[in-house]
Amino acid sequence: MEQEAAAGAAMRCEVVIVGGGLVGLSLAVALGRHGVETLVIDREDPATATAAAFDGRVSAIAHASMAMLHALGIARHVSESQPIWDIRVSDGDSLLFLHYDHRELGTEPFGHMIENRMLRLALLAALAETPGARLLAPVALRRLERGAGGVSAELADGRRIRALLAIGADGRTSRLREEAGIRTLGWSYPQTGIVCTVAHELPHHGIAQERFLPAGPFAILPMTGNRSSLVWTERAELAPAILKLGPAQFQAEMARRFGDYLGRTDVVGPRWSYPLTLHHAETYLAERLALVGDAAHGIHPIAGQGLNMGLRDVAALTEVVVEARRLGLDPGSAAVLERYERWRRFDNVLLSAVTDILNRLFSNDIAPLRLTRDLGLAAVNRTGPLRRFFMRHASGTVGELPRLLRGEMV
Ligand SMILES: Cc1cc2nc3c(=O)[nH]c(=O)nc-3n(C[C@H](O)[C@H](O)[C@H](O)COP(=O)(O)OP(=O)(O)OC[C@H]3O[C@@H](n4cnc5c(N)ncnc54)[C@H](O)[C@@H]3O)c2cc1C
Repeated sequence: MEQEAAAGAAMRCEVVIVGGGLVGLSLAVALGRHGVETLVIDREDPATATAAAFDGRVSAIAHASMAMLHALGIARHVSESQPIWDIRVSDGDSLLFLHYDHRELGTEPFGHMIENRMLRLALLAALAETPGARLLAPVALRRLERGAGGVSAELADGRRIRALLAIGADGRTSRLREEAGIRTLGWSYPQTGIVCTVAHELPHHGIAQERFLPAGPFAILPMTGNRSSLVWTERAELAPAILKLGPAQFQAEMARRFGDYLGRTDVVGPRWSYPLTLHHAETYLAERLALVGDAAHGIHPIAGQGLNMGLRDVAALTEVVVEARRLGLDPGSAAVLERYERWRRFDNVLLSAVTDILNRLFSNDIAPLRLTRDLGLAAVNRTGPLRRFFMRHASGTVGELPRLLRGEMV
C-alpha cells in the first residue's frame, strides 16, 4: 500500500481517514475489506483499548448496524453483547405506555448493547486482519491540503500521506469540517447526559426501558448479566451538583428515578457526563472531502441512534466508493461523493428532527402536553401498523438500505 521506504517519501493510498473513533475505524475496515487501500489516523493510542479498562460507556447497536458488523467480520471479535428483546416507553408514572415486542417482527432482537471499549477492541482486531487498511496512531494531523488532483496529509510526526479522498471522521468538533469552511446548524440542550452502570438483583430479560421524567429521558439499557447502563438526562444547572454527590447520595438520587422493579440496585464503575447538543453540517462534502459520523451530525441520545447514523454513513459511503472504483471512476470526484450525500442527508436530518421533537415534547411536566403525549403513546401502542413501523425504525431497517446494512458485501 504505502511506500515508506525512502525517507521523507509520502505514503500513498486511495482514502485517508482522519479520526479512528468507532465510525472512522468501521469505515477503514469496510473499505479495506473491499480492496480500497485506506489509512486511518488517530491521535489516541490504540494500546489504551484494553478489555480490563471498564469505563461504563455502552452503545445500543441497531439490528441493521449489527448485520454490517457481521458482514465485515467485526462482530465475531465482540466478546460480549446483550440482545435488546423488548423496548418499553413510559411517561413518568403514567399507566399509559408503549411496548415493542421483537416477536411482532420475527425472531431477531431490536439490536445489541455493546460496551464501547469492546467494540473498539473488535474494530482494532478486524482492522489488523484487513490487508487493505491500516491505522497510524497515536498521531495527530498537522495539515491537510486538498486540490483537484488529490489530497496530501501531513502528520504531526512529519510523515506525509497522499490519497484521492480524505474523510473527516474526527468527531463533533471536526477540524476537517472547520478548515473546509463548512458551517453547522444546531443548538445546545439545557440538559446534561449522566451515564453510569447499575448492577441489580433481578434479571432485566433484555428489556430496554425509556422513561420520560420532567428533566428529560431516563433510559435503562440492558447489559450482560444483571447490569444495566443508564443514560440519565438531567437539567444542566442541576447536573454538576448531582455528579459531585458522594456514592451513597448519588445512589439514592439514581434509585429514586430507577425504581425498584429490578430489586436492589448498586451504581458500579465511574459516572460520565456529556453536554447534550444537536449539530448538523450544512453539507457533508467539499473538494475531495466527505464527512461521516459526529463530524457530520450529532443528536440527542434520547433514541440511542447517534452511532447508528454514523454506521449508516459508513455503509452508504463504502457502497458509493466501491461501485465507483469498479466502474473505473475516481472515488474522490464530486459526482461520486454527491451520491453519498444525497443518500444519507435526508435520513440524518429526519432522525435529528424526530429526536429533537421527542425531547422537547417529553422533557417537561406541563399537564395538557403530558395528557396529549400519553394518549399518543397509548394510540401508537394500540395501532399495529404504526407500532410495527416504529419498531422497524428502532431496528434500523427502514428506507433504502445500503447492502452492508442488509448483511451483504458490496
Ligand atoms: C450520553 C450518550 C449516549 C450515547 N448512546 C448511544 C447509543 O446507545 N447508540 C448510538 O448509536 N449512539 C449513541 N451515542 C452517540 C455516539 O456515542 C456517537 O455518535 C459516536 O461515538 C460518534 O463516533 P465518531 O467516531 O463519529 O466520533 P468520535 O467518537 O468523537 O471519534 C473521533 C475520533 O477522531 C480522533 N481525532 C479527532 N481529531 C483528530 C486529529 N486532528 N487528528 C487525529 N485524530 C483525531 C479522536 O481521537 C477520536 O478517536 C451516545 C452519545 C452520548 C453523548
